[in-house]
Amino acid sequence: NGEKMFITNGAWADVITIFAKIDGEQFTGFIVEKGTPGMSAGKEEKKMGIHGSSTVPIILQDAKVPVENVLGEIGKGHKIAFNVLNVGRWKLGAACVGGCKQVLGHTVRYVKERKQFGQPLADFEIIQQKIADCVIRTYVTESMMYRYAGALDDAIATLEKSDADYDKKVLQMIEEYAIEASICKVYGSEAMDFVADEGVQMHGGYGYIEEYPVEAFYRNSRINRIFEGTNEINRMIIPGTLLKRAMKGEIDLMGEIQRILAQLKEGFPQESDQRTLVNRINLVNQAKKLAVYVSGVAVQKYMADIKDRQSFMVAMADFIIEVYAMESALLRALQLMKQQGEEKSRIAIAATKVYVTEKCAELLTMAKQFCANVAKGDNEAYAKYEKAIDRILEVKPIDTLDLRMPIAQHALEHDGYAV
Ligand SMILES: Cc1cc2nc3c(=O)[nH]c(=O)nc-3n(C[C@H](O)[C@H](O)[C@H](O)COP(=O)(O)OP(=O)(O)OC[C@H]3O[C@@H](n4cnc5c(N)ncnc54)[C@H](O)[C@@H]3O)c2cc1C
Repeated sequence: NGEKMFITNGAWADVITIFAKIDGEQFTGFIVEKGTPGMSAGKEEKKMGIHGSSTVPIILQDAKVPVENVLGEIGKGHKIAFNVLNVGRWKLGAACVGGCKQVLGHTVRYVKERKQFGQPLADFEIIQQKIADCVIRTYVTESMMYRYAGALDDAIATLEKSDADYDKKVLQMIEEYAIEASICKVYGSEAMDFVADEGVQMHGGYGYIEEYPVEAFYRNSRINRIFEGTNEINRMIIPGTLLKRAMKGEIDLMGEIQRILAQLKEGFPQESDQRTLVNRINLVNQAKKLAVYVSGVAVQKYMADIKDRQSFMVAMADFIIEVYAMESALLRALQLMKQQGEEKSRIAIAATKVYVTEKCAELLTMAKQFCANVAKGDNEAYAKYEKAIDRILEVKPIDTLDLRMPIAQHALEHDGYAV
């Protein structure tokens, strides 16, 4: 018995998947058909957006479900629930890429048409910078989604379909990519919100009017940071899962921290010319080391209690998310360059250069702030951290404003995102 709020399409679904405890203990999945006595749908919610879907509470009052409707095994419902969530989180991120592209299409067409001060909005530098920012964010998000899907496909392809445990092994593979799924969800939903917000802004007052499609994108986008686990909860899952795996010995986090500490004495390879794409590989590798270093600083200070220090967990998640984002963009640009040459890949290359350079500079500041929080006013301890951070990651500013121009131009020529 009970009530579950906010069930998508609950009002018209013929079949509903319900997770409940048997004898108050064994968490189990059930397939429940519409019309089952004791199961009913509550009143339709009036929502901010996604008006095309139904959202209702599902109410269970002495509902009887036949034993053959148990989904999977009794007491193993969490395996199904978590894996549905994992793939669902990636799918949400991928859907956000579609949303970003749609907003870019509507916005680019609008800024080419609308004239202010005697010229199209598209001719203004600020508008061009905004368009480039939206393209860059979309490109990075798309690269992450392809990467997750490709990696999972490749992993599943190694399994033997005739194996009696094939399905179980597929579930295990999906579970292996739980961190990436959360990363895709958080990054995709925030990218979509960023692009929708800038889309409205570039429309000016018209962006606030229902008649213009960007208004609906702005409202519809907002739910993505809330459902499939809020972004706060997903941010906690990312380092939480990583630390759990490290504790079980599945990944050698402590060994990696030790290697970085040893390397600190010798110094790290730094590229003198950070303008080329290939040299961004080193920058991203160093950013990865910085993420491990700051995680090590926090773990060393708080040990097992780190999971209760939410601010540090969230900061660790942000490092991990950004490293995955930068690396995905970079790997894709390098692959495109290999496949189709530099000229045809120039937008992907420019987007990657801007993103990696600016994000690395941000991570540097974030790392110092993070360590200042850990040091808690101990100047000597902070000075040690700061010295290490500066040794690990050295970012040389490059002209990222000019790099944005061809990105914007390309979107204007193609009436939207066309990387
Ligand atoms: C339109 C819509 C459709 C939905 N569809 C479905 C569906 O089909 N099936 C389904 O099962 N659910 C569905 N949901 C539910 C949705 O997944 C939850 O609303 C969401 O996970 C957040 O839970 P909550 O609403 O209880 O918020 P709360 O858990 O109360 O969270 C409120 C705030 O507190 C934060 N918070 C919560 N716990 C912690 C913590 N431990 N530490 C730090 N911060 C915390 C959250 O991040 C959030 O910012 C839907 C919701 C909506 C609005």
